[in-house]
Amino acid sequence: MSLDGAYDGDNIFAKIIRGEIPAAKVFEDAHSLAFMDAFPQSRGHALVISKTSRARNLLDVAPDELSRMIGAVQTLAKAMQAALKPEGIVLTQFSGAAAGQTVFHLHFHLIPRWTEAPLRRHGDGGMADPAELVELAHLIAAELR
Ligand code: 5GP
Repeated sequence: MSLDGAYDGDNIFAKIIRGEIPAAKVFEDAHSLAFMDAFPQSRGHALVISKTSRARNLLDVAPDELSRMIGAVQTLAKAMQAALKPEGIVLTQFSGAAAGQTVFHLHFHLIPRWTEAPLRRHGDGGMADPAELVELAHLIAAELR
């Protein structure tokens, strides 16, 4: 999908927000939801989405919604650091299919990194064990401040 176009209310993240498909949730409030990526690039790879915005990408989102999302991203990063003790954390956001975006509901990736653990390719990893994702979500959630 190009950078232009309409929001598809049946995208996979909209279904997660509506509770139609499961996700290993780390936290949520009225505006934001953080959950584990089902095809992680590293152990602990998680996503932050807006529950209220229908933005597909970075260009669509209202500034106040974006600032709330970035606040949630920092909250998640701090809890991830405390829980998993990564050596680094990568923050990514892909806007448009040409950039690598595959789900067209705006989201930020937080990917914990360890020097010795190679990064799996975006969109190319295998599916994680759902039980392991729930365990990781609980570990991170326990460190939320
Ligand atoms: P994008 O490619 O749009 O930047 O990122 C979409 C992300 O969503 C990918 O990292 C992919 O692994 C993840 N993903 C795709 N389908 C699902 C799903 O059903 N559940 C979860 N939790 N993540 C998903």
